[in-house]
Amino acid sequence: MSQPPNWDAVRDEVVGILQDLLRLDTTNPPGNESLAAEYVAAKMREVGIEPVVLESEPGRGSVVGRWHGTGEAAPLLLMSHTDVVPAEPAAWSHGPFSGDLAAGYVWGRGALDMKCITAAHLVILRLLARQGLRLRRDVVQMAAADEEVGGVKGAGWLVRHHPDLIRAEYALNEGGGNEFPFGPTRFYSVQTAEKGLARFRMRVRGEPGHGSVPRLDNAVVRLAAAVARLGSTPLPLHRTRTVEAMFESIGQAVPGLAEASSGLWDETTSSLTLSKIPVPDSFRRLLAAMLRNTATPTVLQAGTKINVIPSLAEALVDGRTLPGFAAQDFLAEVRPVVGDDVELELLDDSPALEADLDSPLYSAIVDVMQDELPGARPSPTLITGATDAKHIVHLGTRVYGFGPLRYEAATEGEALVHGHNERISVDNLLFMTRVLYNVVTRFGLT
Ligand SMILES: [Zn+2]
Repeated sequence: MSQPPNWDAVRDEVVGILQDLLRLDTTNPPGNESLAAEYVAAKMREVGIEPVVLESEPGRGSVVGRWHGTGEAAPLLLMSHTDVVPAEPAAWSHGPFSGDLAAGYVWGRGALDMKCITAAHLVILRLLARQGLRLRRDVVQMAAADEEVGGVKGAGWLVRHHPDLIRAEYALNEGGGNEFPFGPTRFYSVQTAEKGLARFRMRVRGEPGHGSVPRLDNAVVRLAAAVARLGSTPLPLHRTRTVEAMFESIGQAVPGLAEASSGLWDETTSSLTLSKIPVPDSFRRLLAAMLRNTATPTVLQAGTKINVIPSLAEALVDGRTLPGFAAQDFLAEVRPVVGDDVELELLDDSPALEADLDSPLYSAIVDVMQDELPGARPSPTLITGATDAKHIVHLGTRVYGFGPLRYEAATEGEALVHGHNERISVDNLLFMTRVLYNVVTRFGLT
């Protein structure tokens, strides 16, 4: 049996790697993720892993490296993205590309979303290689470009053009792993489901005319009425395994919550029930979005001149679907709300996904967390946004979001992901690396 890792040395290694990654400006657009891909590749080569860097376009590189197992079981994919969203440097106390180590934190755009996980995955591969630890599965790291604007030039491109490089039975992704206190109990999220995308355009046509002569079929007025109905009418409630399991897990540990949440799935009592759950309103809105398909109007377009009634009015709607719903099922829920005279044009169709709650990977996560945070309970989670998982599932992979982070009161309430002063504590970076290493080896050895 190989030596266990020296976690003090790992701390320095993962901090240094994250600092290096944060200093590479991979703001998307334009991306320039090849900077990060080449860096990760070089770090893999140092330990004898031969990675592949592939560019979907010049500068838009993704990297894939593989630590070979015995082949007795199918591969595990460690997936991350190296692009980041834009930052406003003037608002940061340490620059977004400084990679500064200060006050116990590593600072920079991507420190949380999600170069920390890229760094942790890379260190795990380096540990396995240095230890010569043979698992039953290959462990494949993919650090992809372009996730922040949909991943078409990163994970999506790899799935279409190089599927064999990243094909895996299971994957660990971003999207879960956060410890949170609730009532007297600590929980941590394990993302097992992700909503799908079914964004669409609403279009209303009418007769044009002079603004001085009102007409009832004015396209602007009819569209506005339909948009207002859509924005204020909840679509039907639907149970999903993940959301039911989440409420069940939390309900068992928080006095009164199980009874309080029993009315959630009944249309006549759901809103009132939700309003009584003792959480901040921002979290309550998130919970509400987990119970239904949602359709949020975001863009309005009509008219060019104040005295002309236009013949066309359009709105864009951000549609998000629960597991089990095709885009057409979703539009069938929207139709009665907006009425029959509105044209609906689907703009994308990316189904929701859900992974098993009883799988060996989920069990490995729960077992490792039981050792790390005794008494903390798993909370299966459905995220309302979309990640690169939507691409990877086309290969049949079961994707779990788990990038474990301890709860930190010091940064509670600060919107760090995509916000100013994004940073990760050194303690949390090491925690993430150690927990993920333990999950990978436990899962990979059994
Ligand atoms: Zn991300």
